[in-house]
Amino acid sequence: MDRAERAAFILCKLGDAYLWQPRVKWAQQLVPGANLYFRVGRGRRTCHSVRGVAHSITIGTQCVAEAMHSARSASSWISYDEIKQRGYFTHRTRPAELMVHTLCHEFGHFVQSVLGRRAPGQQHDDVFYAILDRIHSGGHAGALLDEFQKQCQTAGLSLAFEDTTRNLIQRRIGERILARTASHILAGRVIKKNRKSVTVGITHRGNQHKIRVSPCLIEPDSGTTPLEQSEWH
Ligand SMILES: [Zn+2]
Repeated sequence: MDRAERAAFILCKLGDAYLWQPRVKWAQQLVPGANLYFRVGRGRRTCHSVRGVAHSITIGTQCVAEAMHSARSASSWISYDEIKQRGYFTHRTRPAELMVHTLCHEFGHFVQSVLGRRAPGQQHDDVFYAILDRIHSGGHAGALLDEFQKQCQTAGLSLAFEDTTRNLIQRRIGERILARTASHILAGRVIKKNRKSVTVGITHRGNQHKIRVSPCLIEPDSGTTPLEQSEWH
């Protein structure tokens, strides 16, 4: 099981224990027989769905992997915008906050549904955000975040972004890398670096060229990129 899958399992377990179990009675008073279970999905799909009185929340492993990959990939999430815009978790959008907030978001849809307030095509309306605000202001999201971090630590699961600019520079100095420019992928070696840029040495027709690129545009040269894309023009 990889890091994302393990994190997704912990999220599901905590969703059940912290969000659902304390509210079973409340939900069943509103909707007799209502049930909710949490499951880990293989793909990106992360959602709340309902069939009759059976609700489920799916946490997509692929989605968790993106949250853990880099700040850039994480910023495409709706959770990222919500945390930033609504000030949840004091605007922090590290992988742990993103994942826990996503769980709260899906649970918000469950609550919306049980209250009979989930209209097709309008699931992100004022009613939904009032529910989500309460999950945060009531301290439920914060408690979940603490427990999630604790359990990940116990399981030896890092909650840092995989791909930080600092890692890239430290790991790749002197290494063979590929640098992506606007129109080409160039193969070369890192010859100099500072915090904001990396100087890459490229040999073309026997001549040495130097280019400066942003650290986030370099990646290890695995040797699988087609040659025509590595040409220097
Ligand atoms: Zn939603």
